[in-house]
Amino acid sequence: MTLAGTNQELTRPFNRKVVLESVRRHQPVSRAELARLTGLTPQAVSKIAAELTQAGLLRTVGRRRTGRGQPPLDLAVNPSGGFTLGMEITPTAVHGVLVDLAGSVCERASIPLTDPAPVASVPQMAELARALVTRSGVEERRILGLGVVRPGALGPPDPDHPDPTVLPGWDGAGASDALAESLGMPVTLDNDATAAAIGEQRYGVAESLSSYVYLFIGEGLGAGLIVDGRPIKGARGMAGEIGHIPVVPGGRSCYCGNRGCLERYVSRHALAEHLGLRGGRDLPALDPADPAIAAWLTAAADPLRAAITVLENLLDPQTVLIGGHLPAPMLQALIDRLDPLPPSLASHPDRAGPRVMRATAGEDVSALGAAALPLFESLSPLAAPSTAAVEGSAVRPPWGSTAADPG
Ligand SMILES: [Zn+2]
Repeated sequence: MTLAGTNQELTRPFNRKVVLESVRRHQPVSRAELARLTGLTPQAVSKIAAELTQAGLLRTVGRRRTGRGQPPLDLAVNPSGGFTLGMEITPTAVHGVLVDLAGSVCERASIPLTDPAPVASVPQMAELARALVTRSGVEERRILGLGVVRPGALGPPDPDHPDPTVLPGWDGAGASDALAESLGMPVTLDNDATAAAIGEQRYGVAESLSSYVYLFIGEGLGAGLIVDGRPIKGARGMAGEIGHIPVVPGGRSCYCGNRGCLERYVSRHALAEHLGLRGGRDLPALDPADPAIAAWLTAAADPLRAAITVLENLLDPQTVLIGGHLPAPMLQALIDRLDPLPPSLASHPDRAGPRVMRATAGEDVSALGAAALPLFESLSPLAAPSTAAVEGSAVRPPWGSTAADPG
């Protein structure tokens, strides 16, 4: 992925993030290389690098002497210069991580939720954030922000037919604003599948990919869409609600009002239903060799094949990753059942890898991706932050940007 900066003075906070992320991905890296990677002028790179170094986010590292004169100094991220928090909220739990600027996980913890409604969950999430920071020993002023991700939702809830796969109260910015106020730090809200796609790039098999789909199996089913190195967000940030694409004509009725939606067949909720349980909360330890579970995996493969073909023809990804809140043997058993996939744009003979791969970053991949949001989310010029709840913030990023920082 190449990140393009802009040389207009107005967008300097944005350019700081572009430079910081480019250093993280290519370190150690010279200023000249950074100018080439970001499209910024060498003067702009030098100025931003100086600011980031002064703020403690970047450091200079020695470089081998290549000719006459002083050897140039490379830039690298200062891992302990800044830290971010990431949280994934599901209908049953919150998974949290604290990572340093290099992406190393300093702390991780999960708490069960009995009620995901913001009035109950926001105080618990604030407590979890404080616990992660306290346990790490990191100074509070070094925390750059919190990224929170939750399942996508289609629209206003229908009180007569509540959708068990979404979280009431978490579709707007109200809950994340309350969390930002409670913690005194910026909170960025996004959806779990997009965060999983970003997390998989940092911690899993997507490191060298620039166009891919992450099918995220949670209580429902979402897709993180990365095309040409950028997350596709959509008009309301909801792109990727693949779970509600009808794939079985006249199939099972869905909470969205349609019939035959993909997530009525491929999701933790669908699995729980198949096993005669109320929801994902009640699922036992999952063994793909169990006859009832094996039958569900086989039945899920058909609609999933259809959806993968649609995604491939629509987006031309390098591969489709399948991951989320199922154990690796379950994911692998599902992938094994997809063979043979129907012909699509992706079935050309000279492709470099498999059409479908198992994601490897683990079940807290969304929380890990969420921790990148305070730095990464605004890197795409098209992606505005979901919330900007930093008004009156007690904590400011070390580079001194303010609540009005558009970057
Ligand atoms: Zn639906």
